[in-house]
Amino acid sequence: MDCLFCSIIKGDIPSAKVYEDETVYAFKDINPMAPVHVLIIPKTHISSMNDVTPENSAVIAHIYEVAAKLAKELGIAENGFRVVSNCGADAGQTVFHLHFHLLGGKKLKVEMC
Ligand code: AMP
Ligand code: ZN
Repeated sequence: MDCLFCSIIKGDIPSAKVYEDETVYAFKDINPMAPVHVLIIPKTHISSMNDVTPENSAVIAHIYEVAAKLAKELGIAENGFRVVSNCGADAGQTVFHLHFHLLGGKKLKVEMC
């Protein structure tokens, strides 16, 4: 399967790694929208939130643990940060490997939609 983020996990495409463990990989967004903009992804291919099931959902809780840990390490926990996952065309999802944006380091705009 041709997937950009699977290729990044495999190391076939370079990335600025921030964190890695058995089930999760995190790296800097190539087009940062904030001083801290990290993408946190499951190592198993899940295309989007639409494909989260009882069988694969444990990694989502783990991603939130990793997000909290990285927020502390990257110095944005105190002032605040945002974790966002876009699902499908209307939300602007462009890469169809489930990912969570960790954003912070500035006063973020409060725009839900
Ligand atoms: P989304 O629009 O939610 O699907 O987000 C996809 C994100 O992936 C965007 O913020 C892109 O800047 C980012 N992105 C695309 N290609 C790469 C890459 N090769 N390395 C790091 N981030 C990337
Ligand atoms: Zn993938």
